[in-house]
Amino acid sequence: MSRSDAYQNLNLQYIAGEWRAGCSGQTLKNRSPYDEQLLVTIPLASRDDLDDAYAYAKQAQAAWAAAGPAARSTVLLKAAEIFEQRRDEIIDWLIRESGSTRIKAEIEWASARAITLEAASFPGRVQGRILPSDVPGKESRVYRKPLGVVGIISPWNFPLHLTQRSLAPALAVGNAVVLKPASDTPITGGLLLAHIFEEAGLPPGVLSVVVGTGSNIGDAFVEHPVPALISFTGSTEVGRGIGRIASGGEHLKHVALELGGNSPFVVLADANLEQAAHAAVVGKFLHVGQICMAINRIIVEQPVYERFIELFVERVSKLSVGDPSLPSTVIGPVINVKQLEGLQKKIAQAKAEGARVLLEGPAQGQVLPPHVFADVQPDFEIARSEIFGPLVGILAARDEEHALELANASEYGLSSAVFSGDLERGAWFAQRVCAGMTHVNDIPVNDEVNAPFGGEKNSGIGRFNGDWAIDEFTTDHWISVQRVRRAYPF
Ligand code: NAP
Ligand code: MG
Repeated sequence: MSRSDAYQNLNLQYIAGEWRAGCSGQTLKNRSPYDEQLLVTIPLASRDDLDDAYAYAKQAQAAWAAAGPAARSTVLLKAAEIFEQRRDEIIDWLIRESGSTRIKAEIEWASARAITLEAASFPGRVQGRILPSDVPGKESRVYRKPLGVVGIISPWNFPLHLTQRSLAPALAVGNAVVLKPASDTPITGGLLLAHIFEEAGLPPGVLSVVVGTGSNIGDAFVEHPVPALISFTGSTEVGRGIGRIASGGEHLKHVALELGGNSPFVVLADANLEQAAHAAVVGKFLHVGQICMAINRIIVEQPVYERFIELFVERVSKLSVGDPSLPSTVIGPVINVKQLEGLQKKIAQAKAEGARVLLEGPAQGQVLPPHVFADVQPDFEIARSEIFGPLVGILAARDEEHALELANASEYGLSSAVFSGDLERGAWFAQRVCAGMTHVNDIPVNDEVNAPFGGEKNSGIGRFNGDWAIDEFTTDHWISVQRVRRAYPF
């Protein structure tokens, strides 16, 4: 690491306002996905640690909410400044811990910084309302208030950004937070952010980061009586369980779930094929496809099917594969052996189901080169399930209506994209896709700090960013004031 003041003691957790070792007696060996280098060994949190974190958060929240909007904005602005100052250190951790390529790590750093800056405007944007009342002499007011304590659980693929996307808004509007990062990325998904916020002047205890596995402390984290909202980003399978526990158990909580996807990328016959093929390569292979919005199915209208395939394969075959720290590398490692084995199973199944293999190759360590399959049918596993890796299937559509039918044939509805030479035709197609997000003549991977991010169907509940995040992390309190004595009926 280049800076002499780089953050130290990343084996410690930030619990109840202090840096201390987790008390469970178990440890986590955090290794780099590319070369297996041991980065840090972290003693994991116990349930008592979790209790401390929640108890302290509850205590610290009131003062943080009472701090004026300017005081909260100042902390977020300072955090954004630290992102700037520690850019190389943060990017270096993303490469080493999450196996990000340099290209992806730079994108992720920029996104996380941008949401921090956007969230700095939230404290002053929370608005109540005054409503007209039918009751003589009554003032009817709606106050918008923080929820209290928010529990955040985040994934490993864009750990810094996807954590900060919940964390910065939650703090900005006056909540305290207890955060559980993914076990593959405890530093970039949690501890680094704790250091940044501490340095930015966030009062002790307003944020705790507990590092422990989902299987050990996950249920306790979600069913704990303190958090009023569980903001979860991760798989649909785990998200379903969290929804069940958080809102079907003893304590009823708000839940925000950002889950899996299966983005269709549709190429209509009038599209600029060169442009569409280029976009498809980026939308599929950025971070080796480990993005919830990544292209999962490419759907091409019959008249341009073979030509598109030619252009696509030509570009994919030129992608550079290997060491993620090199500026030119596009295909780095997948996150862990379990993910790799899952992808290898999907490859074998695509072949067994009769897909035409256009590109393939053996894995080197955890680096899996791109795999491209054509003549994929909608019932093939590779079309139905979320891939989350550098594999893709191409499907032929008879015409536009068939393309739409194929695009919507999924249990998921997160993002999507359509290419057409006629922008209004593209926009009309987009309106008929059942998804939270659809992009015309672009990749499905898009996230802007002021635009609603989220999914339909099994892709989740809720929206991030801008006004939507302000709503998600606050709640309404209706307060009425009776100014004159009210005439009751008896
Ligand atoms: P995951 O297995 O669902 O894990 C996500 C987080 O949940 C991790 O912090 C994990 O902790 C935790 N967890 C696991 N089991 C838990 C339990 N029983 N109770 C509470 N927490 C639990 O997902 P992933 O493998 O990290 O990420 C890949 C998936 O996330 C993909 O399906 C992808 O589409 C989805 N994703 C969605 C979005 C979005 O914005 N919609 C963004 C990114 C990823 P441990 O690591 O300790 O198990
Ligand atoms: Mg690791």
